[in-house]
Amino acid sequence: MTRTVHIIGAGLAGLAAAVKLAPSGAPVVVHEATAYPGGRCRSYLDRTIGMTIDNGNHLVLSGNHAVLGFVTAIGSAASLVGPPKAEFAFVDLASNERWTLRMNDGLPWWVFDKSRRVPGTRLGEYLRLSRLLWASGDAPVGEVIDCSGPLYERLVHPLLLAALNIEPRQGSAALASAIVRETLAQGGQACRPLIARDGLGPAFIEPALAFLKRFNTQVRLDHELHAIRFADGRIAELDFGADAVTLGADDMVILAVPHHAAAALVPDLPVPQGHRAIANAHFRIAPPPGLPPILGLINATTEWIFAFDGRLSVTISNADRLMDVPRAMLAQSIWQEVSRATGIVAELPAWQIVRERRATFAATPEENAKRPAAQTQWSNLVVAGDWTATGLPATLESAVRSGNRAADCVTAKAAPMASPGGRG
Ligand SMILES: Cc1cc2nc3c(=O)[nH]c(=O)nc-3n(C[C@H](O)[C@H](O)[C@H](O)COP(=O)(O)OP(=O)(O)OC[C@H]3O[C@@H](n4cnc5c(N)ncnc54)[C@H](O)[C@@H]3O)c2cc1C
Repeated sequence: MTRTVHIIGAGLAGLAAAVKLAPSGAPVVVHEATAYPGGRCRSYLDRTIGMTIDNGNHLVLSGNHAVLGFVTAIGSAASLVGPPKAEFAFVDLASNERWTLRMNDGLPWWVFDKSRRVPGTRLGEYLRLSRLLWASGDAPVGEVIDCSGPLYERLVHPLLLAALNIEPRQGSAALASAIVRETLAQGGQACRPLIARDGLGPAFIEPALAFLKRFNTQVRLDHELHAIRFADGRIAELDFGADAVTLGADDMVILAVPHHAAAALVPDLPVPQGHRAIANAHFRIAPPPGLPPILGLINATTEWIFAFDGRLSVTISNADRLMDVPRAMLAQSIWQEVSRATGIVAELPAWQIVRERRATFAATPEENAKRPAAQTQWSNLVVAGDWTATGLPATLESAVRSGNRAADCVTAKAAPMASPGGRG
């Protein structure tokens, strides 16, 4: 009998697993609880500002190889755009200084060139940062590097805050180290900022669905997994409420739901606890000419301004403190900062605030240590998601890697059957 792979959750992890498995010809069925695929990476029509926006601005770096492999596989690589070189523009709202960090390709000699360094920083600060490269184990960033001084305030803090979505001092140094090793330490070619020009849906989701359709992969929306029945060390049945699926002897399940959902479905599964929020503000207004596609703000609540066609969008990480601030008050105060940073003189334009309370797991050393491997104690259950043990913080790169790895686990289990005389 041909084995079926059931993938639970159509976020990036689930879709990446499906995209990897579908061409093998094995039947793959994706079950998604909601009416829309994409999970925390999706676009939608926002009626308040009358535009299609993303649930959150997503930044990818050119060193995110799994993400780039995914968009290449589904044929949408051209939808991720950015400057040809690794450039990051910043403005400090306290001093009104503006600068653009330009990293060279190859060995990072830009740190030796004063004119390329962040204003006010010294070479020694950069060299001391290398301690982060070898960080491992359970130390927080604050115990590994000096979290003060101009380099920290003007570069390390904003980059690690964006990558870890937690106050960097408290964040896992091992996760920060992985980011530095895979991007900054690789040179500019791994640090080009890329954004989905037309939105996350057209870049990641719609092309993935079209790809899966070509391989007759079913994606069942509004099909929430309610419970899993285990027997004899394996999953025996998937309970979707109105219907149930009894698993055949060779069938496999990839559970690619968020960590809190996975914990509710699988007994004794170790998962990180706790979350950190991300807040986004969207303003319906044309970016002024010359505004860089991404602008970092220092000494402001606003952290990054993304320039899209007819819209400016703001990201604020580690935003739990903003969850209960009245929306109109938040929009007004963010707009004042955007106005100062961009030079736009205008009343508050049409706006939207999107707050994702459970944007990522809390990337502390303690929570990082709880992340499970893909293979579980149940013989036909593999887990995926940005919260599994990928060695990276909760990012698209982590989600896609986890999906790829889950697909590899499933394929490896099938390998004995594919030998001569096996399933074929
Ligand atoms: C506001 C915001 C900004 C972000 N910015 C960035 C960024 O700049 N760069 C970056 O790399 N990453 C960013 N991220 C992180 C990135 O979005 C996530 O890491 C990634 O999307 C997680 O994918 P996932 O598949 O692991 O999980 P999810 O996207 O959460 O997918 C899980 C899916 O499972 C479904 N599901 C849940 N329970 C069930 C069930 N019982 N049955 C069936 N389906 C179920 C859910 O509906 C969902 O579709 C951001 C996240 C947010 C929220």
